[in-house]
Amino acid sequence: MGPKRCAVASEESLMRIFTVPEAPSSTLSVIEQEISSNLAGFLNENIAAIEKPLHEIEKDFQSAMIPEEPMFVSDYAQDIMEQLVAHSVHTASPSFIGHMTSALPHFVLPLSKLMVGLNQNLVKIETSKAFTPLERQVLGMMHHLAYGENDAFYEKWMHSAKTALGAFCSGGTIANISALWIARNRLLGPDGDFKGLASEGIMAAMLHYGYKGLAVLVSERGHYSLGKAADVLGIGRSNFVAVKTDDNNKVNVAAMRAKAQELSERGIKVMAIVGVAGTTETGNIDPLPEMAALAQELGCHFHVDAAWGGATLLSDNYRHLLKGIELADSITIDAHKQMYVPMGAGIVLFKDPTATDAIEHHAEYILRKGSKDLGSHTLEGSRPGMAMLVHACLRVIGRKGYEMLIDKGIEKAQYFADLIRADEDFELVSEPELCLLTYRYVPRQIRQAIDRADEQERIDIYAALNRFTASMQKRQRESGRSFVSRTRLTPAQYQHQPTVVFRVVLANPLTSKQMLNEILAEQKGLAQSDPVFKKYLAKYMA
Ligand SMILES: *Cc1c(COP(=O)(O)O)cnc(C)c1O
Repeated sequence: MGPKRCAVASEESLMRIFTVPEAPSSTLSVIEQEISSNLAGFLNENIAAIEKPLHEIEKDFQSAMIPEEPMFVSDYAQDIMEQLVAHSVHTASPSFIGHMTSALPHFVLPLSKLMVGLNQNLVKIETSKAFTPLERQVLGMMHHLAYGENDAFYEKWMHSAKTALGAFCSGGTIANISALWIARNRLLGPDGDFKGLASEGIMAAMLHYGYKGLAVLVSERGHYSLGKAADVLGIGRSNFVAVKTDDNNKVNVAAMRAKAQELSERGIKVMAIVGVAGTTETGNIDPLPEMAALAQELGCHFHVDAAWGGATLLSDNYRHLLKGIELADSITIDAHKQMYVPMGAGIVLFKDPTATDAIEHHAEYILRKGSKDLGSHTLEGSRPGMAMLVHACLRVIGRKGYEMLIDKGIEKAQYFADLIRADEDFELVSEPELCLLTYRYVPRQIRQAIDRADEQERIDIYAALNRFTASMQKRQRESGRSFVSRTRLTPAQYQHQPTVVFRVVLANPLTSKQMLNEILAEQKGLAQSDPVFKKYLAKYMA
């Protein structure tokens, strides 16, 4: 590469970047044309297949100095193509089946550009105008999807200045925090002389109500974002209690009831229980109706974390799997997971439209009382018009389109599970309930050895299998053809031993059955070509 042309900081060049678009033949315009006409092709061509080690990549991002001198846009575009784009992750690739986000429909690209160009801020009407009713409509549609209230309900509440049917936010983490924030403030609300926790703080609230602590109960498969929520809300991570699951990764409600009993005997109030509708690791759904009944018994908030699985409600064929979700006081759904919206689209819904009163904030210069500003009911302040992309997907794909996508994902997971079951060298670890499953590679010689082994030997073999699974997963990722993720479970069928498993999420509509066959074959090849594994296996070949 020759020496870079030198740009100069001048009033004129600054004016130019605000007023003159890049020439059609410039580097950035060419990139723009390519991603517009063929995004998949662009990503295939420009993301390097073979992984570069992170410490190598870091060399391009060393300086802590803000550059003094400006740079031509084309030179910058060239640099990021080489240093950034080439070493990003091809999340849209149909053979990358380990991520919760997958391919995007084409039309969201130009719409995203429109959204950025308009640069609306949803915090208040003054900077968002029609975007506010649009966002309220999206919340209304999602509320209707989950709770199915009648027309009069939505007519009354959807655009009401005093309330919000939910909150749009950057993702499931903020959605979960918002839900538990409301649960906390409602539990410890104003009472006689006490002005409520929101006003007087947690210490005064605990003294007033006579609690020694607050607790949130969730299954051991609950998402770590709930732990963050317990921390920021002043509940404490040790009062965020993980309850054991049954063999199918669904929370054991009797154990949850017993835990709640034990906490309450110690003066600790259960503030909320959380049901997971589609766990991040295994895709299983908690028994929501029984949990709703338990929440009622305990007099606590019932939140459902359906960040990943909530989109299943769009399929009339599978929404029954989430039966009981309509009993939840609040629900988290990420549009940027199974609704194929780009990242930055989380949603929390409230059954009771006045729930957000508990967190309402007003300020004089902004968020005036009685305005329809969404910022008075959200944790975040300035927010982009992402709701437009959810709106677009709901309109363009439609419920029926989503139903086909969801059904296809679930059926593909069943197909993949059948492939694994039919292959004597693989073991299905968790059955797919939605489009997510886990499995591991256990060649039959080792399986026979496990059957013969005593307990200590069995634990040793499991530990070796864990190392091999982790190494296979890493090598598959590094070779760049395909990607499955991995996680660690404690399955009952392996005596609750820590077990490293492959985890696949089959949401990408472009993933074919052929690819699934190839991915298993590739994994087998990786195991068989691993000298350490071969040596280990030889022990059992005799
Ligand atoms: C992804 C996920 C979250 C967190 O959502 P983010 O959008 O990553 O903040 C929470 N809960 C579950 C079950 C999830 O799958």
